[in-house]
Amino acid sequence: MADFKELYDLDPYRKEFDAAVVSCTEHHGTYEVILDQTAFYPEGGGQPADHGTLNNVNVLDVHEKAQGIIHTCDAPLTPGEKVHGTIDWDRRFDFMQNHSGEHIVSGLIHKMTGFDNVGFHMGEVIQIDFSGPLTEDQMREIEIQANRIVMRNEPVKALFPSSEELETIDFRSKKELSGIVRLIEIEDADLCACCGTHVRNTGEIGLIKLLSMQKHKKGVRIEMLSGMRAFRYVQKAMSENHKVSVALSAKELETSDAVNALLKTSELKDVRIREVSESLLKYRLNEYESGQKLIIDFEDDLDRNVLRRHGNDLAEKAETAAVISGDETKWNYFIISKTVNLKDKAKLINEALNGRGGGSAEMIQGSFAGEKEKIETELKRILG
Ligand SMILES: [Zn+2]
Repeated sequence: MADFKELYDLDPYRKEFDAAVVSCTEHHGTYEVILDQTAFYPEGGGQPADHGTLNNVNVLDVHEKAQGIIHTCDAPLTPGEKVHGTIDWDRRFDFMQNHSGEHIVSGLIHKMTGFDNVGFHMGEVIQIDFSGPLTEDQMREIEIQANRIVMRNEPVKALFPSSEELETIDFRSKKELSGIVRLIEIEDADLCACCGTHVRNTGEIGLIKLLSMQKHKKGVRIEMLSGMRAFRYVQKAMSENHKVSVALSAKELETSDAVNALLKTSELKDVRIREVSESLLKYRLNEYESGQKLIIDFEDDLDRNVLRRHGNDLAEKAETAAVISGDETKWNYFIISKTVNLKDKAKLINEALNGRGGGSAEMIQGSFAGEKEKIETELKRILG
């Protein structure tokens, strides 16, 4: 394979090429094809493989193995056959934009903090892991600097230094290097050993957007997008913000103020609703005659504190009072008694009604499930 040509390396903008089939081997229903040259980029360095076609055969995956670059195809090709290869260019160019954007961001973070890119994954979003933590302010600053590099339309250069030169250059690298090293240089942003595909000039990246930063091991994981994917993300985010702005009659750049005002109003309403429902509960206490043996009361959606208070109020009208709130899938219960040892009964109640909970001899609380009638029957049987 001495004269094998990796066309994606010589010209990452090559979308079509001609080649001869060297071999084709069936493997679990797919066909592993080796060509005498290829423009298909094999998965590597965090960049996914190219897709496309060889004649009318689909290329599903591309990997570099000891025997050469393997094109995994959905139909067989004949050794010796001439093929015309076409790269799925939208997919590849998206990877070139996102990969080049990642160089700029990783390079700038390295310059600013000295931290290294220790993990890189291109999925739906691009994830990069750094060896140390960054602040939100640093992240915003990196995003601004990265987009300035894009707007300056810097050339993305490939350098092939000799091993002697290499020892004198300070560059980023993700692994131990051997053989000829290709350095990717973007002035004022990055110098990094890399075998992936890149855009010619940073202007082609279009936009770099950092989406999020989370703690990861001893450093952080940053999610980012570049190119058309970043643009679509911003478009979607703006469309969501526009809907919020219309719904709240707020200016598009003042939606968070409007949402906070709405939340505050909603909290006040919650407080008011709680007050009203509690006074209603107090009023309804009059419906119960005093001196009863057992009161079982079902209520809609009381929070645990109100449930407890209402139970204590009902206990003045009965020897034993049970307040149950929720719906058939889950009821919260509070039971209080002057005559029954509830500690002994909690287990029976939980068993009968698929529940959990407990407490003291005088008071138990927890949750169970079931229809109202069944709960009433079981509680009368156990507590009556
Ligand atoms: Zn690269």
